[in-house]
Amino acid sequence: MTPLEDSRAEIDRIDRELIRALAERMEAVRRIAAHKRDNPDVPLRNDEREREVFQVWSEQGRQHGLSPYFIGRILREVLNYSRRDQERVLVREDEPERAARSVRVGYQGAPGAYSDLAIEKLFTSRPQPVKSREGFHTFAAALDALESGEVQYVLLPIENTIAGSINDVYRLLAERRVHVVDEEVWAVEHVLAGLPGATLEDLEIVRSHPVALQQCQVFLGQLVGVTAESHFDTAGSAFSVAEAGDRRIAAICSEEAARRAGLEVLRREVADREHNITRFVLVGLEAERVDARVRARTSLLFTADHRRGALAACLQYFADQGINLCKLESRPLPETPWEYLFYVDLEGNVEDPRLAAALQKLAEHTNHLRVLGCYPDRSVEGGLPEEAAELEVAPAPVAPPPAQPKQGAKEPLVTNVRPDATERAASVVRVGTARIGAPDEFTLILGPCAVENRAQVMEAAEMARDAGAKLLRGGAFKPRSSPYSFQGLGWEGLALLAEAGRAYDLPIVTEVLRPEDVERVAQTADVLQVGARNMQNFALLTELGRVRRPVLLKRGMSATIGELLAAAEYVLAGGNQQVVLCERGIRTFETATRATLDVSAVPVLKARTHLPVIVDPSHAAGRRDLVVPLACAAVAAGADGLIIELHPDPDVALCDKDQALTRRELEALRTRLVPLVAAVGRRLA
Ligand code: PEP
Ligand code: MN
Repeated sequence: MTPLEDSRAEIDRIDRELIRALAERMEAVRRIAAHKRDNPDVPLRNDEREREVFQVWSEQGRQHGLSPYFIGRILREVLNYSRRDQERVLVREDEPERAARSVRVGYQGAPGAYSDLAIEKLFTSRPQPVKSREGFHTFAAALDALESGEVQYVLLPIENTIAGSINDVYRLLAERRVHVVDEEVWAVEHVLAGLPGATLEDLEIVRSHPVALQQCQVFLGQLVGVTAESHFDTAGSAFSVAEAGDRRIAAICSEEAARRAGLEVLRREVADREHNITRFVLVGLEAERVDARVRARTSLLFTADHRRGALAACLQYFADQGINLCKLESRPLPETPWEYLFYVDLEGNVEDPRLAAALQKLAEHTNHLRVLGCYPDRSVEGGLPEEAAELEVAPAPVAPPPAQPKQGAKEPLVTNVRPDATERAASVVRVGTARIGAPDEFTLILGPCAVENRAQVMEAAEMARDAGAKLLRGGAFKPRSSPYSFQGLGWEGLALLAEAGRAYDLPIVTEVLRPEDVERVAQTADVLQVGARNMQNFALLTELGRVRRPVLLKRGMSATIGELLAAAEYVLAGGNQQVVLCERGIRTFETATRATLDVSAVPVLKARTHLPVIVDPSHAAGRRDLVVPLACAAVAAGADGLIIELHPDPDVALCDKDQALTRRELEALRTRLVPLVAAVGRRLA
């Protein structure tokens, strides 16, 4: 052996020693993790101890003539790895069966893409072993695979320090029913890779993902006569160059992707800026809990209502609780111009009582609020080593570790009692010019039971407007007790109702029967009605939780008030905060009326929930002569509004003809209501 070979053999031997020693160190770390798992009072991080270890390392390093700076960097990585390994034991300690299952993880791109590499890194800290990593052509395709069960998680890039937020991913997070369960950061190091033997002079085309090309503009600008060509993925562009076998084409990708594609690195450090870090989120179909001792982040999605200062008020709740905001993004809502969807990342665990209190307050000022997820904060490690060092010796987060509440012990969202025992203000559902639930307003919703034809619905809309309705009702999909009864005109009926609504400037309310129709009905209707027969259709309620349209929820004819509130809770829990409750009569032994109007439900509901409560006297009575007296009772009982059926010619009505009011009765209704509504301090607009 030459002396050089001798030294190399020596190095190889020492490296084996080092790795063996690291493995042994890790064993000890895992024993400590097991101790922490069994003793929830022991904090996960012990800054005092970490500082001591740092001191010992730098002192001993100094004695051996080693740079304390580099020794410190090595130790930092060792500690990062140890901490993450401990989290694997701790993070989801309440779900052992989930932890044991190996998983498939999807990403956008080809093998060797940054997302693929980041999955490998992230799962060293997660409990589940990875069975496979599956590349998809688009983010949407990867999420489709998640929804169909083909993969259990998907890793999505969400922001980059150079290119900024990745809009497509933000949009998909809002649209899909997914939960953020983890995050990862990856320091992107682009290289220019070509066929073996290729030179910069040979180049005519540089291929990569558009974001990567954008990040290397300065370098690309120096390559005279070279064209940049978009590809769906960085790693995919490397494989395509290998396949083309053409020295005039090169790719911008990771060094790992170049190696896998059999390409040679022509140039390193081609990005415009040195620090190019991408943050990824791991999404799954179910939310996951994070141990209170792990530093966590929580992501939210909400729409603030239209009032001035609404966003500022929303954010103030977090400041009041001493919660740090890490990120705020806004996106326009295509269906409602000039309304925005806000994404917020917060420091803290969603189970921390302070965060829970802030969320409860936030719900009071949002039309839609969804917790996208709570996950371990891994952003610190991705920072510059110097910054990371400072952050790591900083004192642990101020809050004492919150006690982990039992699952299911959540405060209901429908309740009007805040955690601090104060009463939550009544929520107001704004539709058109109506403010349903505002204590000084009384809302009339009028219209036919069913949309029958254009002439009928047009005339009905005119009657509704003349009688002072703020919204037009009309059934397009009718839930009928008999399969032989008129079932409604369906989509055609909805289009006619919308036309009538536009003609008379009235927003429309219509019933949706099936979960799969919700999205489409929501594109046209201003308010979605859940009928009495569907009050406990939980699949339907869950779907309604996702839309950004108010929901009119009718009480089931055999449902208790508690069950009505639980049904509303489904919608709120899904994110949709705009629910109006409706008492429409219940089944009793009495046969003189179609149902028995439970007048007491109104004050009982008003005392128990912040949601608006309206009354439907038409279906309760089943007879037009009783509609007006019952409507008066509803006003006196404190209802926020009425929904009443009318028809231009009840004799020929295809549905509920006996209870439909005519013009004459509508006049009587108005005459009776005006003084009554004023007497309870409200206004009938
Ligand atoms: C309706 O409003 O036409 C209707 C079907 O009502 P309910 O679901 O209360 O019976
Ligand atoms: Mn009806």
